[in-house]
Order: sequence, then C-alpha cells, then structure tokens
Amino acid sequence: MLTLTFLGVGSAFAKRHYQSNALVEAWQSGPDQQVTPDETLLIDFGGTGPMALHHLKDQPGFAYLNRDERIFYPAIRNVLVTHLHGDHIGGLEELASLNYFRFRVPTTGRGYRPRIISTEVILANLWEQSLRGGLGVISPRRASLSDYFQPHAAPAVFRNPGPAFTLVDRYAISLFPTDHIRIQQKYDWPSVGVLLCDRKTNQTVVFSGDTRFDPDGIGSLIASASQVFHDVQLEPFPEPVHALWSELRTLPTESRRKMFLYHYGDEWRDPAFESVADEFAGFAVPQVRYPLFP
Ligand SMILES: [Zn+2]
Ligand SMILES: [Zn+2]
Repeated sequence: MLTLTFLGVGSAFAKRHYQSNALVEAWQSGPDQQVTPDETLLIDFGGTGPMALHHLKDQPGFAYLNRDERIFYPAIRNVLVTHLHGDHIGGLEELASLNYFRFRVPTTGRGYRPRIISTEVILANLWEQSLRGGLGVISPRRASLSDYFQPHAAPAVFRNPGPAFTLVDRYAISLFPTDHIRIQQKYDWPSVGVLLCDRKTNQTVVFSGDTRFDPDGIGSLIASASQVFHDVQLEPFPEPVHALWSELRTLPTESRRKMFLYHYGDEWRDPAFESVADEFAGFAVPQVRYPLFP
C-alpha cells in the first residue's frame, strides 16, 4: 500500500494552512496493521514544514515520527525536492542540522543522511544557492551536500527512461518537468512534478508540483492516472505561475473528478469556491492519509 499525507496544503503565503509539502509512505500491509511504514518519502519541506511535521507526529497513526516529543527526523528516509522556492525547501536546513547533530549514527560517527532526490541542476543549485549559506561549515571544516544527504540525481522527462527511484521495489517514482517559472520560455527554469506508479497494477498517480496550467505537457499523464493532486491558484492573477482554478475547471469531467486541489490560498472558504467539492475530488485536506494504491 502507498499513502500520501499532506503536512500542509497552503500556498507559499498561506497562514491558515501550512505550506504544500507531502509525506508518502509505503507499507507491506498498511497503516492499520503496522506502526511504522516500510519506506518514507517527503516531497518538499518548506519554511512551515518543521512546525507541520511537529504537529503531524502527534496525530493518530504517526507516532513513529515522535521521539521524546520531538520530531524523529531519521524516520524520513527520502526527500524529494521539486524546486527551490522557500515553501518547498525552507525547512531543509533544520532537517539536515538535526540529522547531523542530534541523530548521529553510532557505527559511522556521522549524522543520519537521508537520500535527497531531484534533477542534477536542482540539487547543485539547492546547495550552492540555498543550503550552503547555513550549512556550508561544520566547524572547523567546510561541508558539502553529501555531509547531510545522500544525493540522488535523476532526469525530469515526460516519457519513460525508467523510474528515478523505487520504494520497496514495487512503487516506481519518476520526475517530469513543470511549467512554473519561465526565464524566457517554457521549462527553462528547473522545477519538477512527480509521477508515482504501482508496478503491480500499472496504476499511476500524478502529483503536479508547482506548475502553470499545462495540458500540453501533463494532460496525458492526468488522463491516464487513477488519482491526481494538482496545485491551484484561486486568485485570478494575470500572469499566474500556478494553474488557475478557472483554467482547471475547463478540464474534462473525468479528469476533474479524480483531482484533489492543493497549494491554495487562505480564501478557500469563500462561497465562490463551494463548487470545488462537486467539480473536483475536492480541496486536499492536511494531515490525513490518502490511499494512493491499495
Ligand atoms: Zn509552492
Ligand atoms: Zn513554486
């Protein structure tokens, strides 16, 4: 079984919800029969991520994230970074620091190092442009990304060069490019979405990451998926960097019915958005396990 739990479902600037980061868990039997999942994957960890995880560890079924009333960071075995905005990476300095200093592995004397997964460019920029400022020295020496993580680079593609990695051998995870920020043209600023596939049934789930409305790029992935989690922007900005609600409403009924909307602003309770529950699978709810594959 594969499940997905949003730490939060809010936009970068949301205050009523934590930012849109998600915990994927792979289970041999399932959360009803196991206390701890067999494999974990965190998709993004923004500035509100540590507080959201601190809250999640106290929810029923998530005690494995709790050690002495603090977050047990080594329970997070893999971290996937979709892009370098603060709502997706702002919590990584804490995760890396605490893994290094609080959760030292006795056999190696080193900190606990989860695998960190993204494209080669995003991983290089993650270190050089973001994390190095706070993590670049472990006194008295210089440090690198590999002191804190096991880097795993994979290409972002729409079609099939094999998965970026697998969870418990059964679930194949791939990256695809997203049309989020443009320097000059589509896909020229590195950002990715996530395709999850159950090799046993060939069912797929799309997690859009941050993207503009891009039916030419991910339309066929959405059409063939059994479930979709799509970012949404409720405010109708003229130059959006996310899919607008009004754009997603133009998708065919069968695509909308299996689509949960996330990364939404604080205005979600406005009566204008009441129809989301009918037109889509609904607004994604934070801190609740969604079964992806049985
Ligand atoms: Zn975002
Ligand atoms: Zn973004």
